Amino acid sequence: MTTTAAYAAPAAKAPLERTIIERRDVGEFDVLIDIKFAGICHSDIHQAREGWGEAIFPMVPGHEIAGIVAEVGPGVTKFKVGDRVGVGCMVDSCRECENCVAGLEQYCLKGNVGTYNALDKNGEPTYGGYSQKIVVDEAFTLRIPDGLSLDVAAPLLCAGITTYSPLRHWNAGPGKKVAVIGLGGLGHMGVKLAHAMGAEVTVLSQSLRKKDDGLKLGADHYYATSDPKTFKELAGTFDLIVSTVSAPMDFGALLSLLKTDGALVNVGAPEEPVSLNLFSVIAGRKTLAGSGIGGIQETQEMLDFCATHGIGAEIELIAASEINDAYERVVSSDVRYRFVIDTATI
Ligand code: NAP
Ligand code: ZN
Ligand code: ZN
Repeated sequence: MTTTAAYAAPAAKAPLERTIIERRDVGEFDVLIDIKFAGICHSDIHQAREGWGEAIFPMVPGHEIAGIVAEVGPGVTKFKVGDRVGVGCMVDSCRECENCVAGLEQYCLKGNVGTYNALDKNGEPTYGGYSQKIVVDEAFTLRIPDGLSLDVAAPLLCAGITTYSPLRHWNAGPGKKVAVIGLGGLGHMGVKLAHAMGAEVTVLSQSLRKKDDGLKLGADHYYATSDPKTFKELAGTFDLIVSTVSAPMDFGALLSLLKTDGALVNVGAPEEPVSLNLFSVIAGRKTLAGSGIGGIQETQEMLDFCATHGIGAEIELIAASEINDAYERVVSSDVRYRFVIDTATI
């Protein structure tokens, strides 16, 4: 057993505070990682505030982890001490079901083991990246290519893969018109990735406040959803829309922006349900789909793609003592575009 400093929510809706947690001994196939940086995902906030339902406390959030291997178990073959590595939203799965065998561990039929707010195979609670050390099975550890700095790579482990996976699955690329809804942590990665894939990219944000940034990130067009003219002008335009919005949206209005046979893929995980008039998918044979993070192999592919294209997240590096303020700023859509914790300050 190792102890390590961490930031934890002691109870639902309570501010996060410094604490000491235990990490398991390094097992045969485990790596011990010295965490250098941890991104703040909106999912951390949903869970720390029990917005998705009952959660496990104390909670150490954080599933955008970048660091350096400090120790390896005797059976480890993928990594050695000193390697640059990352950990995303899951730390284990059954590894046997048809989804795990197909590299879709995120959809493990027995449920994947979340990096935090979950119980591992031994029934022990998992604790996430707002800490200085973590022990993870090598099978759920990713290699961060040399070309990517660890601080801007950390958010790729969730925000990057969550947008990369649907863009790939629904064939974003040259000749395709792709819209990204919401220019936050996920959204800004979606813009960068869709642009790098060769698609024509449009941002739909609540306002034009971040337009200059959006265009710099790689968007070709930028519209405000608060302006009713947007929906008239863009009706029937897109092959693919990826919604990253953390609050309930009018999905009927978004579906009206698709071409015939277009797809609206939702990755946002609002705390409240949405209602939808189903005629909005019948007319134009449209697809309304969802997508969750990505499998381990695809996450490695995404990291390698980002290194090749020089893509990292746009980050605001913060000290651990600023986490609670950062949460408030994320909730009020005041983030440009991912808060990343310097774990040396924990
Ligand atoms: P974020 O940084 O807060 O970005 C969300 C963006 O949504 C905001 O920047 C804002 O963009 C827009 N937005 C927020 N409230 C809105 C409202 N009331 N109406 C319209 N637009 C609104 O959050 P994130 O970390 O990117 O995460 C986004 C969502 O995805 C969260 O719900 C998170 O839990 C979920 N998520 C899902 C997965 C998955 O696997 N499917 C993985 C990670 C995260 P504008 O200011 O541009 O309008
Ligand atoms: Zn996340
Ligand atoms: Zn499985």
